[in-house]
Amino acid sequence: MALEILQIPCLSDNYGYLIRDGETGETAAIDTPDVNAINQALGETGWTLTYIFNTHHHWDHAGGNLALKEQWSCEIIGPKAEADRIPGLDRAVGQDDVVMLGKSSAIIYDTPGHTSGHIVYHFEEDGAAFVGDTIFAMGCGRLFEGTPAQMWASLSKIASMPKATKLYCAHEYTQANAAFALSVDPHNEALKKRAAEVDQLRAAGTPTVPTDVARELATNPFLRAEDKGLQAALELVGSDPVEVFAETRRRKDNF
Ligand code: ZN
Ligand code: FE
Repeated sequence: MALEILQIPCLSDNYGYLIRDGETGETAAIDTPDVNAINQALGETGWTLTYIFNTHHHWDHAGGNLALKEQWSCEIIGPKAEADRIPGLDRAVGQDDVVMLGKSSAIIYDTPGHTSGHIVYHFEEDGAAFVGDTIFAMGCGRLFEGTPAQMWASLSKIASMPKATKLYCAHEYTQANAAFALSVDPHNEALKKRAAEVDQLRAAGTPTVPTDVARELATNPFLRAEDKGLQAALELVGSDPVEVFAETRRRKDNF
């Protein structure tokens, strides 16, 4: 039985997730942005919280750890490189470690950049990746603790996943990201089409997350540093992709 995934809007623009292995009933919260919203979802589904899987230490991802742990006695798994900053951490994991949820399994990718120890959970067999604040629909996380070279390498790991992989991002930033993407990649037809679709979805209050790898490769400027059109728009034709990525990120910070 496949992984069941429940998306939970939290705070102003976060998404929390509950995931459940259908065979064993083991359930994990991906990050803990809002204890009440997560508990409400658990109440409605009747699921029992077995684990918290943290992506990084920011309060809107790990802030609910201790309250949920006290209530559910769940085991908290999180990034090794941020072990001292994850409240209640029981098990620290890093690149290529495997985390089991019942009979489902996730491979861990280290994706430093947004924070120094950020990790991603890739459920390969289920075609799903929980990417925290590393990649967003048409965007990526701000570089609070990492370098452009680190973030480019982290995004490249996500870009290398199978094209149909669904990317479960931690924020609904899509509409603002699309506006920026159009400013640096104005001749990208796939991007124009998607931006219009996103406007429609948001006008109807519909989430634009999850996205998928194929869609991001076609429209996300932070994955397209090797694209000639994007390079031309930034006047960086032939430049190193890290340099193109860094310039794109710098422009987004000032957009
Ligand atoms: Zn964050
Ligand atoms: Fe966040």
